[in-house]
Amino acid sequence: MQHWICETCGVQYDASSKPPASCLICQDDRQYVASSGQKWTNLREMQGRFCNKTFQVANQVLSIGPTQPKFAIGQRALLIKTSQGNILWDCITLLDDATKAEIDKHGGISMIAISHPHFYDTMVAWAEAFKCKVLIHQADAKWVMRTDSIAKELLEFWSGNCKQLNDSIELVRLGGHFAGSCILYSKAGKGFICTGDTIQVTPDKMVSFMYRCVSVCEQLLIIIFRLTCPSLFAV
Ligand SMILES: [Zn+2]
Ligand SMILES: [Zn+2]
Repeated sequence: MQHWICETCGVQYDASSKPPASCLICQDDRQYVASSGQKWTNLREMQGRFCNKTFQVANQVLSIGPTQPKFAIGQRALLIKTSQGNILWDCITLLDDATKAEIDKHGGISMIAISHPHFYDTMVAWAEAFKCKVLIHQADAKWVMRTDSIAKELLEFWSGNCKQLNDSIELVRLGGHFAGSCILYSKAGKGFICTGDTIQVTPDKMVSFMYRCVSVCEQLLIIIFRLTCPSLFAV
């Protein structure tokens, strides 16, 4: 039995002896099936063949990945260090001893929060390794591919439009790209937001929205009102 991982999107599935027939996330219009066809791997096969680059992207914010050589859609995660525990924003597929040791040097992970299904990756394995919960918006529950007893224990589904994580950080659901797509807003220092695929900065320094919709505009007004400095970390 293996927890198979889709090589195109990096998402891990419930354990089975044979790989699933197809990847539901890649078959969805917002992803794609590789032209070479559906391929599967697992964490054990990846360990040793790939490694994660880790570097600081801002004060108290560390990039975990992208994985080298490039894997899946080149996801990266951000480790946001706070005095109330570190938050991992989004996830990457490769988890190995070197990555675990590096993150432990920075104080480990108290909580994982994910923007949308394209970053679900091996989130349950990460939560198991760091003994923490993963926050997922309820509206995207159908895209979660780990539904075993470990996943049931470690995944926490939240609802509504805002979820406070600690004194300075909250999740804000904007919808749009996926019904439960959310961003992370921190009011620490000058303030910043981590946008997942929901909001992107374009080369002309304007901001674009993935699948523009009314709920995005309403919620964004709340964010703009709260934000004192428009620093953006697009992940
Ligand atoms: Zn996939
Ligand atoms: Zn996406």
